[in-house]
Amino acid sequence: MLLEIGRQAYEQNPSAWPQDAKLKLIQQNIAAAQATLNEAKQAQEQADAAKAAEDAKGKCPNCGNKNAEGVKFCQECGTPLAAAGPKHCTSCGAELAPGTRFCGECGAKQGE
Ligand SMILES: [Zn+2]
Ligand SMILES: [Zn+2]
Repeated sequence: MLLEIGRQAYEQNPSAWPQDAKLKLIQQNIAAAQATLNEAKQAQEQADAAKAAEDAKGKCPNCGNKNAEGVKFCQECGTPLAAAGPKHCTSCGAELAPGTRFCGECGAKQGE
């Protein structure tokens, strides 16, 4: 069907074809440009996510202070930092969820 229409169009107006071919080429170029743009956008998003993760490292959820890497408590307000990783019981060494006051394993009171 489309081929038939195309053939008829060609017979009626052959000079329209180079334009059509040009249009196709432009469309292809646009598609290629969009693909490049998408790739660049994805790369940018990945870079942004990596930067955000880097920024979040050691950042206090309470006051927003950017703490030194590896600290367990905010150096500005003393809020426990989740990014510091799991805490362990001071008595038995069991892994504790952030904010745990008493060990679920041995019941030992944990320091703030
Ligand atoms: Zn803080
Ligand atoms: Zn314990």
